[in-house]
Amino acid sequence: MAVIVLSNREPYAPTLQADGRVRWTPSIGGLTAALDPVMQRDGGTWIAWGEKHPQITAVDLPPGQPRYRVERLALSAEEVRLHYHGFANGALWPMSHYFLERAQYRAEEWAAYRQVNERFAAAALRQYRPGDLLWVHDYQLALVPGLLRRHLPEARIGFFWHIPWASQDVFRTLPWDREVLEGLLGADLVGMHTPAYARHFLDACERTLGAEVGNGTVKVGARTVRVEARPIGIEVQEFEQLAAAPDITARAQRLRDNLRTLMLLCVDRLDYTKGIPERLEAFRSFLERHPTARGRVTLVQIAVPSRQEVGAYLKLRQQVEGLVGQINGQFSRDGWTPVHYVYRGLDREDLVAHYRAADAMLVTPLRDGLNLVAKEFAASSRDGVLLLSRFAGAAGEMPGAIEVNPYDVDGLAESLLRALRMPLEEKKARLERLRASLRSSDLKTWTAAFLRDLAGPDALPEELVSLGARPLLIMCDYDGTLAPIARVPRDADPQPGALEALARLLHHPAHRAAIVTGRRSVQVYGFLPLPDLYVVGLHGMEWPETSPPAPERLVIESLARQFPAAPGLRIEDKRWTVAVHYRNVAPERHAELERQLDRVVVPPGWEVIPGKLVREFRPAGYGKGQAVRTLMAAFPGRLPVYLGDDFTDEEAFEAVNALGGVSVKVGAGPTAAYSRLTSPASVVALLTAWGHHA
Ligand code: UDP
Repeated sequence: MAVIVLSNREPYAPTLQADGRVRWTPSIGGLTAALDPVMQRDGGTWIAWGEKHPQITAVDLPPGQPRYRVERLALSAEEVRLHYHGFANGALWPMSHYFLERAQYRAEEWAAYRQVNERFAAAALRQYRPGDLLWVHDYQLALVPGLLRRHLPEARIGFFWHIPWASQDVFRTLPWDREVLEGLLGADLVGMHTPAYARHFLDACERTLGAEVGNGTVKVGARTVRVEARPIGIEVQEFEQLAAAPDITARAQRLRDNLRTLMLLCVDRLDYTKGIPERLEAFRSFLERHPTARGRVTLVQIAVPSRQEVGAYLKLRQQVEGLVGQINGQFSRDGWTPVHYVYRGLDREDLVAHYRAADAMLVTPLRDGLNLVAKEFAASSRDGVLLLSRFAGAAGEMPGAIEVNPYDVDGLAESLLRALRMPLEEKKARLERLRASLRSSDLKTWTAAFLRDLAGPDALPEELVSLGARPLLIMCDYDGTLAPIARVPRDADPQPGALEALARLLHHPAHRAAIVTGRRSVQVYGFLPLPDLYVVGLHGMEWPETSPPAPERLVIESLARQFPAAPGLRIEDKRWTVAVHYRNVAPERHAELERQLDRVVVPPGWEVIPGKLVREFRPAGYGKGQAVRTLMAAFPGRLPVYLGDDFTDEEAFEAVNALGGVSVKVGAGPTAAYSRLTSPASVVALLTAWGHHA
């Protein structure tokens, strides 16, 4: 099985050397970083527009150690003008970013877009062998999945849309809305960066096409297309390591020394979606209102040239450079220049040195599919603050950032002041929170999970699927195993298909299934309305038809009387246990709160379990390990299987391992489990396969 990738941009770009030889250098951007390692490992074909040196129609890459082939499509000047600059960047890009006044819908450009999509599809059809995975990328190629599907009804086709998906009222301004939707629905799996984009897409399928839409699915004839939010990650470790390297540290220090002031950093492609003029206006307002900041703060704007052939981008450049000139003209003094403006891209080392040098990073797009710069800064900085626009897709995943509204120039100026005055301890605490969320969405995991889920049940390890022939006791964690991890626990809807798979298992003649969760069981029944499902809640404390003994209620009441009070603090009485959540308490109060919680007197036989910004007080001696042993004793004669993703599942893995059962870890990370699956989607696929075993 090979992977065939289709994208507008190629993974390596050619430059002609003085000696007449061609050198291939990796293209900047997330896509090459995401897919090049997989292609290098597994081989395959990457089909892309060969922008420079179009006479080279194919090349084996990477240079020196070729592992996969790039098929380079030469687009004519007319196709570039009408398809790329025209429909892709002049219609789909502004519309998807809510810039309707900039969107131009022209039939001639649409025709060229269709034609170029047909050329990409034809190139893929030439390469395709049964069993290959096809992965199409981004808004330049929206029609390709549909074109491929016509010829390859059985193929596995994935699509990732890397920019925002606008709400239906905006999307339906597109005269070819049906065609674009039908094109994308040729895929089996459509990925978007955020749940909101995925919702908007489903909404469009329902309202424009009248399609039958479920929880993350669209019915297209006999096929079901999955639509999922899967924000792309970065190479967290690589950025952390680079940022810690001595030469980068020294470079960052030099940058700070040369500036001799605090540094506000901005790094953007020069694009009207990035809110650069608005941000410069905010900086001007900041300097006007806070004269003491003059001479003490410098804004460094790295502007990466982009789409320079397009008039709107040229105008933007003039506007930005005009503003930079005005601000510098107005405020410069004593050798201090308020705005340092760099009109070129930096290489990764230089970029990371800037991230490390910055006191605050301003990421303030008016609209952005995700924004990788924000994630890269969070992974690299040691003592900086991230200000992040609420209109960047990444905002939903970055809890330690200061959220800003880029349209509110005065508010943005005030947030700047707050960032620059923030105590070091709070900055570090915020960066720690940011890092924790970054680590859960690493780039390698993103790529592997998409391909794995695209490959679907066929790619499940055969040794797991074949277990379905024996009577099984299937024990499953909920969050992260049957449901993707959600930012807010109450939003943790099950993975599409989970309910159906469990319902089928409940009626299976041989298998038995149970959920073992840290939640209260009533919450799980809320997500999975199956009254007959056996749910063990609260890490093995709460069994169907048990209620908490009175003495434990008394302990909970006495604990509750000792808890400190603070705005944002939430006490959750789980009846058997009690948890104190301080996620919503101001970060600068966390240390003091933790000291107060350390002083709470815990009665004998009880213990405190610290979690992420939560502490749980509970009777000791329970755990998923014990729960699993009890279940195994209750259902003898069946092969025990435990599936889980979290630290608390480890003792359950050990318990089934000890009895010759099967342990399955979901996702990456060290584990005692013997087998592994990549995601809740593969868990559902496996449960479905077991449910169908006679
Ligand atoms: N980048 C770079 N050099 C620069 C500026 C940016 O290599 O001088 C890279 C940056 O590391 C990031 C990408 O360009 O990975 C920009 O991605 P983002 O999602 O922030 O914005 P986009 O350009 O895709 O709209």
